[in-house]
Amino acid sequence: CGIIGHVGNGDALETLLTGLENLEYRGYDSAGVAVQNGSGISVQKRSGKVDELKSSIDGVSIEGSVGIGHTRWSTHGPPTDENAHPHTDETEDVAVVHNGIIENYAELREWLRANGCEFTSDTDTEVIPHLIQYYLDDGLESERAFRRAIDDLEGSYAVSAMIADEHVLYAARNGSPLVVGIEDDEFFLASDVPAFLEYTDNVVFLEDGDVVIVDDTSVEFTDLEGNLVDRDHETVDWDP
Ligand code: GLU
Repeated sequence: CGIIGHVGNGDALETLLTGLENLEYRGYDSAGVAVQNGSGISVQKRSGKVDELKSSIDGVSIEGSVGIGHTRWSTHGPPTDENAHPHTDETEDVAVVHNGIIENYAELREWLRANGCEFTSDTDTEVIPHLIQYYLDDGLESERAFRRAIDDLEGSYAVSAMIADEHVLYAARNGSPLVVGIEDDEFFLASDVPAFLEYTDNVVFLEDGDVVIVDDTSVEFTDLEGNLVDRDHETVDWDP
């Protein structure tokens, strides 16, 4: 239901948790975050409120500037801890958050299982990290692996993914909203502007079919094939 992402200077965890609280008005049944902590990806997620997620990670040290967070409104699978996002592949090298519905998930899951993938949730979303990992194992570099995975999806989605040890967020939109926030040396990604409005009002709304690659210093707006597309920066005049 809600997505928040952070790359660039500054600690990700606090921004992600604040972003999730700002998205609570959308309604949700579970919440979670994944942060690159220098030695892989740390995932914290559970059913229930953002407050409960916060208490459960209180005292756990999760330092890192790149991360993604999610509030879930279940469509496939009950609101359990396992079904909460972010979802990962078996090795936890790829973490993904997703809003929307992957219509062809059953077919993709069957194909991935036949290729040795093991699933730990009932969600449609979990096929995405496994697909990305499959293409990485197949030798594709990260950006191409992400594009290939997105190309396999049918349905509506706003997706954000990260890969262990990369200071990069990959994102794609088709039918579910996604917006990028830009502030000097910090970048945000969210399903809606209020998620990061206290940090920046300089935004770019994505269009269906867009794929964005955000790293520590830049944002690249492209189509699925990788051709650059022009997207306007806007200053939103909303009260944080
Ligand atoms: N279909 C996904 C799920 O059930 C995402 C739902 C959402 O948009 O929060 O986990």
